[in-house]
Amino acid sequence: MTPVIGVTATLKEDGEAPAPGEVSRPLGEYIRADLDYVEGVFDAGGAPIVLPPIGGARNVESLVGAMDGLLLSGGSDLDPKYYGEAGIPEMGATIPERDEFEMALVGAALRRGIPIFGICRGLQVLNVALGGTLYQDISAQLGDDALSHRQTALKFQPAHEVEVRSGSWVGEAMGETGVKVNSYHHQAVKELAPGLVVSASSPDGVIEAVESRDFSDQWLFGVQWHAEAMRTVGVEHRNLFAALVSAAENHAVRRAAA
Ligand code: MN
Repeated sequence: MTPVIGVTATLKEDGEAPAPGEVSRPLGEYIRADLDYVEGVFDAGGAPIVLPPIGGARNVESLVGAMDGLLLSGGSDLDPKYYGEAGIPEMGATIPERDEFEMALVGAALRRGIPIFGICRGLQVLNVALGGTLYQDISAQLGDDALSHRQTALKFQPAHEVEVRSGSWVGEAMGETGVKVNSYHHQAVKELAPGLVVSASSPDGVIEAVESRDFSDQWLFGVQWHAEAMRTVGVEHRNLFAALVSAAENHAVRRAAA
């Protein structure tokens, strides 16, 4: 049975201004999910569906009821109000509709025991939904002790190493314990949520992957790097998508039997 896997998307506004002298045209608004996420799920054997970030909590129960797995994609900063903080000046832009939708979505997915894989912002959303907090800006809050986690190199090129904890679920899924990863984040996990454990970190101590302690029941994991952009250059990154689809297959069997 092919598992249905929801992929979160972002809201984009087409800010292209009319040319001089041209009659103004309406700005287009659209949703966007990078094809790398969607193809990552598809290539691993899942049936991806893109989830529009609208309506807050209104439809999340129906959506998760039709899903066997959830991929939380990367994107803008999560509003720090979700972990009880006010924003600091170094915080980036937020998209309130997306935040509201995803926090409700993750809550519904957790209640239904749907496996979740979070990438970059997705890891951060997962951590906050489970009660953790974030560094709003690594440079401002960790300073010189931190590596540069915002690379300018191409997305599939690695920026720093991570040490994956041996014996961790993520390590088993990847089949590697020392990997080089790309890095496009300026935020990171500060306090780990109850129930999550660290499965990888970078040499400066920044948390780069997390997983659920109770993965036999519900399988939750996230990586801070953009595995979707590295899956074509490293089988260990592809394996993370395979792990999500495999967990979702188990959920699909249970959903069919229910
Ligand atoms: Mn990093």
